[in-house]
Amino acid sequence: MKKITSWGKYPVVESEVITPASNRELSTSDKAISGIGRGLGRSYGDSALSSSVIESSRWNHFISFDAESGILCCEAGVSLDNILMTFVPKGWFLSVTPGTKFVTVGGAIASDVHGKNHHVEGTFCDHVTSLKLVIADKEYICSKKQNADLFYATCGGMGLTGVITEATFKLKPIKSAYINQKVIKAKNLETVLDLFDEYQDITYSVAWIDCLSTGKSLGRSLLMLGEHADKGELKTHKDGLLNMPFDMPSFLLNKYTIQAFNSAYSNKQLSEEVNSIVHYDPFFYPLDVVHNWNRMYGKQGFTQYQFVIPKSAGKEGLTEILESIAESKQGSFLAVLKVFGEGNQNTLSFPMEGYTLALDFKLTDKLFGLLDTLDEIVRKHDGRLYLSKDVRMSEEMFKSGYPQWEEFKKLREEYGADALYNSLQSQRIGL
Ligand SMILES: Cc1cc2nc3c(=O)[nH]c(=O)nc-3n(C[C@H](O)[C@H](O)[C@H](O)COP(=O)(O)OP(=O)(O)OC[C@H]3O[C@@H](n4cnc5c(N)ncnc54)[C@H](O)[C@@H]3O)c2cc1C
Repeated sequence: MKKITSWGKYPVVESEVITPASNRELSTSDKAISGIGRGLGRSYGDSALSSSVIESSRWNHFISFDAESGILCCEAGVSLDNILMTFVPKGWFLSVTPGTKFVTVGGAIASDVHGKNHHVEGTFCDHVTSLKLVIADKEYICSKKQNADLFYATCGGMGLTGVITEATFKLKPIKSAYINQKVIKAKNLETVLDLFDEYQDITYSVAWIDCLSTGKSLGRSLLMLGEHADKGELKTHKDGLLNMPFDMPSFLLNKYTIQAFNSAYSNKQLSEEVNSIVHYDPFFYPLDVVHNWNRMYGKQGFTQYQFVIPKSAGKEGLTEILESIAESKQGSFLAVLKVFGEGNQNTLSFPMEGYTLALDFKLTDKLFGLLDTLDEIVRKHDGRLYLSKDVRMSEEMFKSGYPQWEEFKKLREEYGADALYNSLQSQRIGL
């Protein structure tokens, strides 16, 4: 037994950590291996926690790559970091990447992760052509044509349909490792939402919002836009240089992040907009530079509250949320806002057409009360919360946000996955 936790460092649980040597071992073991699939533990809450977890760390090999089409087949424990290190020099990049490269392919599929390009290129799973899934002693090859019910449920299914052991997906060609970046100051929420509309054809977009500003400046933000550059070397990233060796008192973090934002925002050189060429690493993964930055929130840990609300509810819903946070004085100090295009068919996939906001909160006694209030606003606007960040959503909140939950539950029962693969989260939300 080992104590394990995920990125938010809450909760910490005693767990049996099973690390099968290969995916074959999973399906040929005498007794069906039960537990919940686990990659690099970069989900924030309790979706990869259980009394027993099945870690993919030992099945982490590339299987094949077609240099004509960019189609890569690999084991599910391969990390996005490894893919970038191997394929950027050959002129290929991830079609979709989350804000950290330290996640596995299995984790990216199970969360159906999104990046800064959802409005143009969809989710990670939209580029997956097939995957292998083990349920008890049976291996299923799943795609939109073969075992399609399992494919749609597994993409975004939080490990609850079985263990993903292999995947085939498309990389995208690049000419350079650099990004043409444009940063624009937006004086408030309305301005940043208008800017998202104006620049909707740009592939990558994200805004950092200052949650402390109120009144006419509510939603004051920096919008970052990007496109892959045509020129520049195909140079990979370096390993992160800094490490957070101990749990830091959280007041230091708040001071640090807000100061960084303020100095960027009030930088005189950053007039209305600034264009530059930056490497993909700081553009996509600014937080990866400090290993274990989650320790900055101190021993108690933290959580990320990420919701999406439909575009029609956009300004009103976001205003209500930002005002509630400012009033509560429990700040999340910086928040990340992105635009989602249309959602896909995956049963429990998070994105839907609209706005998604991700807010980090240090865990305190009062926090869950505030998050319950935010839930009500999200529900009122027909939105939902992201399972991959969640550690406390109620069953009711889950079911109202994910109307296909019943179909998902039935499928789990039909394939016998409900008896074998459960997380603390799945038990809490009634799956
Ligand atoms: C700094 C940071 C930035 C992030 N930015 C984004 C972002 O921009 N967009 C976004 O969508 N997400 C983002 N995330 C969340 C992260 O991408 C997801 O939580 C991802 O699933 C983590 O992958 P992992 O390999 O660490 O999986 P884990 O955290 O170990 O597991 C996550 C889920 O996947 C399941 N799982 C993992 N491996 C398997 C497997 N082999 N078979 C079956 N199920 C499996 C687990 O059961 C669990 O439900 C971010 C996280 C961090 C820490």
